[in-house]
Amino acid sequence: MAIETINPATGERVRSFTPLTDRDIETKLDAASRAAKSWRRTPLEERLLVVRRAGELLDERKADYGALMTLEMGKTLKAAIAEATKCATTCRFYADQAPAMLANAPVDAKGERSYVAFQPLGVVLAVMPWNFPFWQVMRFAAPAIAAGNVALLKHASNVPQCALALEKLFEDAGAPAGVFQTLLIGSDPVAKVLADDRVAAATLTGSEGAGSSVASVAGKHIKKTVLELGGSDPFIVLASADLDAAVNTAVTARTINNGQSCIAAKRFIVDEAIADDFTKRFVERMRALVVGDPMDERTDVGPLATATIRDDLHDQVQRAVAKGARVELGGKKREGRGFFYEATVLSNVTQESPVFREETFGPVAAVIRARDVAHAIELANDSSFGLGSAAWTREESEMELLAAEIDAGSLFINGMVASDPRFPFGGVKKSGYGRELSAFGLHEFVNVKTVRIMG
Ligand code: NAP
Repeated sequence: MAIETINPATGERVRSFTPLTDRDIETKLDAASRAAKSWRRTPLEERLLVVRRAGELLDERKADYGALMTLEMGKTLKAAIAEATKCATTCRFYADQAPAMLANAPVDAKGERSYVAFQPLGVVLAVMPWNFPFWQVMRFAAPAIAAGNVALLKHASNVPQCALALEKLFEDAGAPAGVFQTLLIGSDPVAKVLADDRVAAATLTGSEGAGSSVASVAGKHIKKTVLELGGSDPFIVLASADLDAAVNTAVTARTINNGQSCIAAKRFIVDEAIADDFTKRFVERMRALVVGDPMDERTDVGPLATATIRDDLHDQVQRAVAKGARVELGGKKREGRGFFYEATVLSNVTQESPVFREETFGPVAAVIRARDVAHAIELANDSSFGLGSAAWTREESEMELLAAEIDAGSLFINGMVASDPRFPFGGVKKSGYGRELSAFGLHEFVNVKTVRIMG
């Protein structure tokens, strides 16, 4: 893939970049390795000053960073600015919480002064996607760097300017040379970088294919990985639900980030007693969305990030229709410039449908009917993915059953799935493994070391 900025709202090529040569990569690996040795010995308070300062800069520069994100991948400007703000909040969270998370944990063993220590692994390679170009990176980098690791970022090829802005952010925040570096490379050299002895571990957020490929290389070289992959999150609406609130949230949960979120609600599993009513109201609300220029404040849904993503989405819709789905709304690419897709609702969706089985990355909602709570859970779990899940009910017993039985990394009852630095984030099954955020995320890239002082 060429490393370039193409504005998805117009289709215009804005800027192209020459990928790093082998020699450039070697220079960066060497700098990372040297930085790792001194950064781990830098006092925690000093490391946290950098993380805190990065947060302040994110706040100060949120308008510029927001405009850059919108230019490169098409999310609405208001969403992009909110993304920069969330990154700032997360930097503050780790600057405040890391001392407690990294403190030696004493173990009560008779007559000993023994404890568990949390020490950095070293150079961590981060392979990241374009859909949240700042957030995906910062939610890894803030805790990893606080813990004393150094980061090498291989960002998606369509967001090179965001990738460079992130490198500059850390430099401006006072990070010593080599603590956070961007590698402007395609996906081919990733295996070689990961295999290098100077790289200790990797985290990847992206598709199943990319995750499998990076994890295979890491496995061969016995390196720790965290994988945050795709999702086809269920959004269950049971008969006792507050239907107005459920419908309003359903619209946001499906169309957030122009529908291109791993944790966007994708399969709307609705009790058949209220399915017609839900679908009617959902279609009305989805129809009212403004699809258009992401820089315009009134826009709800901007373009998809690339022409291929838009075309693949349309192909899924057409295959779903061929399998019996009914188009209640949309189902079409928008003519003219840019990679726009209409807000779409499909009903009569079955378990065999492509929009049930595959991840849909765009504003396409599939409505599926369930007989009761048990059937809804069965449908929700009938997926190769297991990232997030949401369910709407007023029945306590149903809440307990859902919490026990839903096979996913999170369950949100009477709300929509969202990441939050206070809570662990991640998936099961083909959605990946490991966790980001909270203390669990910070501990992914540390050596949990037993220290027993026995005499
Ligand atoms: P992608 O094609 O897998 O790309 C993600 C990153 O992996 C990019 O940097 C890409 O580089 C790189 N890459 C692709 N193939 C690779 C390979 N064989 N070896 C090494 N690196 C490789 O995914 P995407 O289309 O950008 O992102 C969308 C996907 O990410 C969706 O499936 C979404 O659900 C998932 N996602 C998951 C989470 C989560 O937290 N679970 C969050 C956001 C997104 P190039 O750009 O150079 O190809």
